[in-house]
Amino acid sequence: MKKRTQLIHAGISEDEQTGAVVVPIYQTSTYKQEEIGKHKGYEYSRTGNPTRHALEVLIKDLENGYAGFAFGSGMAAISSVMMLFQSGDHIVMTDDVYGGTYRVISKVLNQFGLSVTFVDTSDEQAVEQAIQANTKAIYVETPTNPLLKITDITAISEMVHKHDLLLIVDNTFNTPYWQRPLDLGADIVLHSATKYISGHSDVVAGLAVVCNESLAERLHFIQNSVGAILGPQDSFLLLRGIRTLGIRMEAHEGNAGRIADYLTKHPQVSRVYYPGLATHQGHAIAKKQAEGFGGMISFDVGSASKADQVLKKINYFTLAESLGAVESLTSVPARMTHASIPKERREALGITDGLIRISVGIEDVDDLIADLEAALQD
Ligand SMILES: *Cc1c(COP(=O)(O)O)cnc(C)c1O
Repeated sequence: MKKRTQLIHAGISEDEQTGAVVVPIYQTSTYKQEEIGKHKGYEYSRTGNPTRHALEVLIKDLENGYAGFAFGSGMAAISSVMMLFQSGDHIVMTDDVYGGTYRVISKVLNQFGLSVTFVDTSDEQAVEQAIQANTKAIYVETPTNPLLKITDITAISEMVHKHDLLLIVDNTFNTPYWQRPLDLGADIVLHSATKYISGHSDVVAGLAVVCNESLAERLHFIQNSVGAILGPQDSFLLLRGIRTLGIRMEAHEGNAGRIADYLTKHPQVSRVYYPGLATHQGHAIAKKQAEGFGGMISFDVGSASKADQVLKKINYFTLAESLGAVESLTSVPARMTHASIPKERREALGITDGLIRISVGIEDVDDLIADLEAALQD
């Protein structure tokens, strides 16, 4: 099955009970048992729910994994996966990882004895050097947020398996439509499904997909024990969103490519970060490991005051956190999504005060470019 067909027909695409062509919202907490322990596969909705299950099977199919799990947010998915580890374990993590991931690992999970070393995972030697005797996993985000740095998943996976570690990849920016980390050797894939998977800025959700039975059993045990599950209504919204993931990703990327080219030529823009640009660090790897370059662009306008001006004048790009929806969004990472990262660390990473991130929506690209043109004018 080709990927566009898979988006429509993979997973469980109808309701066996009624023939309904979409899986309904099973808004129920519990299920009748005919005798003690005799039931139709569901006992209690924290453990399993048919709408959530349909979503979990679908994302498993799309990521070509063994089992999928749906959580109440991307952070709930990430935190639950981190519970696969124990006190004393160590993880090597991408340095410009999503701000919330940095926060949970360095301010919450550290309290339980999990330690982390942040490295530039696009530098394979740096990753290898950061591996310690107690390292259990390498955690990679690629492309990263907001600088769109690219890590070679295949190269890291070879290293990971030589050392008998797990490779965890946050695939939020590319989605399985463009990039399938498990096919490249990763063990676990994570998503903030709040972003492209949902695609409509109407749900907060997280997904995880694992590559084998033993990880599936362990993660299901954690999901059921900790209980950070996704509800049936939100599961339904994701099922609905995923059906159009392909046409949305194509449209996001088409628009982003045009806008990246436009910004590159603009005299007020000192730097453009977009994996589709031949000049982008990691462009060749992005081209090799993903089928598309996505819809996220960051660009530097030089100062906080210029960034403020752009944001004030811009029309179609809504100033908001989050990304990956049909409408264009913009943010200033240093003062918004990455505000929880200390200033010195932020600047060392290149997240300057004049850096603007845009999540390119699926509006008419001529309108978006005209809007940027007017906003950038002095
Ligand atoms: C938003 C985001 C997260 C966190 O997901 P939530 O759904 O907001 O909890 C994790 N990783 C990346 C790359 C994100 O963009």
